[in-house]
Parts: sequence; structure tokens; C-alpha cells
Amino acid sequence: MDEFSLIKTYFQAQTKPNADVIVGIGDDAAVLQIAEGMQLVVSCDTLVADVHFLSDWDAFAIAYRAVMVNMSDIAAMAAKPNWVTLAITLPNSDDVWLQRFSQGLHHALQTYHLTLIGGDTTRGPLSITLTIHGIVEKGKAVQRSGAKPGDKIYVSGELGAAAFALTILNQADFFPSDRDLLMDKLLYPTPRVDLAPILQTYATSCIDISDGLSADLFHICELSHVGAVLQLDAIPIHPVVKKYQGVNALDFALGGGDDYELCFTVSPEQEHRFMQQTRSVGITCYCIGYIDAQQGLRAIKDNGESLPLAAKGYKHFNGCGDDAGY
Ligand code: ADP
Ligand code: MG
Repeated sequence: MDEFSLIKTYFQAQTKPNADVIVGIGDDAAVLQIAEGMQLVVSCDTLVADVHFLSDWDAFAIAYRAVMVNMSDIAAMAAKPNWVTLAITLPNSDDVWLQRFSQGLHHALQTYHLTLIGGDTTRGPLSITLTIHGIVEKGKAVQRSGAKPGDKIYVSGELGAAAFALTILNQADFFPSDRDLLMDKLLYPTPRVDLAPILQTYATSCIDISDGLSADLFHICELSHVGAVLQLDAIPIHPVVKKYQGVNALDFALGGGDDYELCFTVSPEQEHRFMQQTRSVGITCYCIGYIDAQQGLRAIKDNGESLPLAAKGYKHFNGCGDDAGY
């Protein structure tokens, strides 16, 4: 199959453009209609085979996850994702693989009402670059730089499952229903797009957790010129991680990435109304600490003891002299 029939078959044919796509796939560039008073929010991610995903994963999941990972960045800005471009580099035109890939891609796009508006197709080692374009009301995007001392720190769901899933990939004897649950968390993350409208009103800063809670929260602290205090026993650890990892489960929640939950800050005056709103969209958010003026990350253990926390995660922190556990 040549490049043009490949594009038509797998990418163009199943695309049903939304009304705001004036020119979609097939011309030299796409033309998009942006409503009056809205701003464009753009984010791009490259996923390289055997770096960001394993080439033997189901191509359906590879494509689906690529879209979710990108959408998570737009959700973290409190924007609404709309349009996607796909630059794909393929080692060959394997029809079976491309069919699964395009099924996963179009399933993801249709579920979230996104339109594929163009891309590029080249030959080489497998790599996928998605650029996602979202819109947000003028001035309403939430940045990493807005956290203020006194703000409460929240996360949008339980942490650690995706990172733990990565450690059991080769354990053939792992309990099947727990394995399925963990693999689901790794391959099919749920970007928190439903939180975006609430974050616009209530969040002072926001980031998506792709590298791990402590590393990503540290970005908020750096850009907001503040510090953060985490209440370790308030961090929501995924129950399956707790079941297998016991006292080490917190390492996965603090240092493990790939969950694509959001970490954000809310002023204490707004907290009550904010929590009411999150309940109305069915997303459980957890308060895990607060922002203060002293820079850096600190952790408070359940006995009240306060310790410095390394941005790279809890393992590092242990290496800094805490051998008592938590
Ligand atoms: P050009 O040579 O002008 O860059 P191409 O021949 O690469 O155009 O692409 C033809 C059309 O197909 C363009 O509209 C382009 O955006 C689209 N396209 C190419 N590859 C992909 C892809 N992987 N997914 C979606 N659209 C694609
Ligand atoms: Mg091209």
C-alpha cells in the first residue's frame, strides 16, 4: 500500500470532522474555526517504541493511550480538547497492525469528540507524535505558576497503579484479575477533561502527573516560587498497589508516573464549593497538603514528623537518610 492509500484507509476514511473543521485531512494544511472570545491551547507529545511503549503492545492500546496522554496536558490547562494531528513513523505498512492502531485511534477520538485534522506519514523506526489543539475562554487557562501560600494541594484520583503495572509486565504468574486491572490503568488512562471547567473557576495552578507526584508538584512549586507540604497519610494510593507493595506502596504513588491524574491547588476559601462541584461530575479529588512560602517539598508523616522530600520521588528521599520507613 502506498503512502496516500494508507492515509486514506486508516486515517481519513473514518474521520468525521466536527463543524469547526473548515478544511481537514487532504489539503496542504487544516483550517479551523475558533469561536469569538476563545484562545487556542496546543500541546505535542512524541511516543517512541520501546521507550514510551513496548512495540509488542496491542496497537489499539498504543493509539488510544497516545491520545489520552495528549488530552491530559490540555485538561491540565483547564481547556477543552478539539483537534488532533498525527505524525507517524512506521517501519513498514503492516495492515494488521495499522488496522488495530486506527481502531484504537478512532475509538479514542470519537469517545471524546475530537477530529483528526491532518498529520504526516513517514517510514522509519516506530514513533508517534500527536499534537492536540484545545480551546479555552480567553484568560481562563490554568498555569503551573499560580499557586499561593495557604492554597490546598489536590490530586484527582488514586496514584501508583500505572507505575506498578510497569514492574509486573514480565511476571507471568501474577494474579490475572489484578494484572488486568493494573494493565488497564497503564494502557487506558482517563484524562480528567471533565474537571477542566471546574478548574477554570477554582484552581490557582495545575499540572498533570506524568512523571510522578513529587516531580510534577515540584514544577508547580518552582514556577509559583513557593513550597509544598504533603501529608503522607492523605496521599491516595491505588488499593492494588497497597495490596502487593505494603509499606513501599507510597514510593509508587510519589515517584511513579503514567497515571495522568491532575495535581492542582485551590484557595482554602474556595475549597468547599470546589468539592461540591467535583462531586457533581463524579470525580473524587483528595486534599494531600498545602502550599507554603518556604521553597522546596516537605512531607509530614502520620506521627507529625516533618521531613524534606526530594522532587525525584520517595526512593531518593529514603537515600537521603530516612531509613525508618513511614
Ligand atoms: P504534504 O506532502 O503536503 O505534507 P501529505 O501527502 O503528507 O501532504 O499528506 C496529505 C494529507 O494527509 C494532508 O492533509 C495531511 O495532513 C494528511 N496526513 C498525512 N499523514 C497523516 C496521518 N498520519 N494522519 C492524519 N492525516 C495525515
Ligand atoms: Mg507531508
